[in-house]
Amino acid sequence: MSRANTRVVKIGDRVIGGGNPILIQSMTNTKTEDVEATVKQIQALTEAGCDIIRCAVPTMEAAKALSEIKKQISIPLVADIHFDYRLAIAAIENGADKIRINPGNIGSRDRIQAVVDAAKERQIPIRVGVNSGSLEKELVEKYNGVTAEGLVESALDKVRIIEEMGYDNLVISIKSSDVMMCAKAHELITNQTDHPLHVGITEAGTLYSGNIKSAVGLGIILYQGIGDTIRVSLTGDPLEEIKSAKRILKTLGLRKGGIEVVSCPTCGRTQIDLIGLANQVETLVQGYDLDIKVAVMGCVVNGPGEAKEADLGVAGGKGVGILIKKGEIVKKVPESELLSVLKDELDHWGK
Ligand code: SF4
Repeated sequence: MSRANTRVVKIGDRVIGGGNPILIQSMTNTKTEDVEATVKQIQALTEAGCDIIRCAVPTMEAAKALSEIKKQISIPLVADIHFDYRLAIAAIENGADKIRINPGNIGSRDRIQAVVDAAKERQIPIRVGVNSGSLEKELVEKYNGVTAEGLVESALDKVRIIEEMGYDNLVISIKSSDVMMCAKAHELITNQTDHPLHVGITEAGTLYSGNIKSAVGLGIILYQGIGDTIRVSLTGDPLEEIKSAKRILKTLGLRKGGIEVVSCPTCGRTQIDLIGLANQVETLVQGYDLDIKVAVMGCVVNGPGEAKEADLGVAGGKGVGILIKKGEIVKKVPESELLSVLKDELDHWGK
């Protein structure tokens, strides 16, 4: 797929835009002031595949904690600021690799200028974020409600304010929990700016609905070549956000690596506990950095055929299962041993 031609922006030691790989972000849900807990969560997220982490900075203590957090992590740190420009400046002084602000709630031009000057001095990017929940009254009136057009105008207005202040090291995000509005806003803005876009469906919901809304929304947007960095927002453990983001990118062919599990939906022919096995396999494969497909099929009637396209597969019979490798049946094993046989194959894959 051809990607929108955006500018390259450096965030810490990573780059987004300009056709570079789409980076995955998440946000900590610990108190940023609690350095130990925040670092622990960031390290777990990094291990899971998070490329860039954002922390809320609601207090001066949180802004000051950033410098200690930064020393103990290995991915770029973004400070999320609302309302208080002094917190934005303090976050920058304490080593934030990027800040996320909504200039609309920072206040007077002088205050925005002070934040821009601090970012400029250290050459760190500013993410200009607008959200459907805080769209300006004038734009709501102009467009007869909260609309994609209003969101785009709001974002571009704010970008212009910062550009007029002499700074264009920017990333834009326009977020809405309305998936189709969000998709339309991205389609509109991509033709009007070349600043990189941070894409996400905001307040998407719990694990179930949040994943579906994010997959649909990000799928529509990313498939059009729009987006340079993503966040899946879930009301849940941030680790789930990383798992989902990786899966979305891999499904769209935008990221390689990680085992893909395909499993059949089960039917009246299923003779093993396939649902249990598929879930165990899904958990098992997370520990392997292999770029292969593993099939978990319920029966020997269709299983081997359907598993042919996978690198490795198992198909259940009556209390037994067969192991399939590159489309060939290689052995028959008791149902109770299917998982361990599969694990053994993965442990020795490519050796
Ligand atoms: Fe049914 Fe077998 Fe197909 Fe699974 S692979 S859905 S058990 S026919």
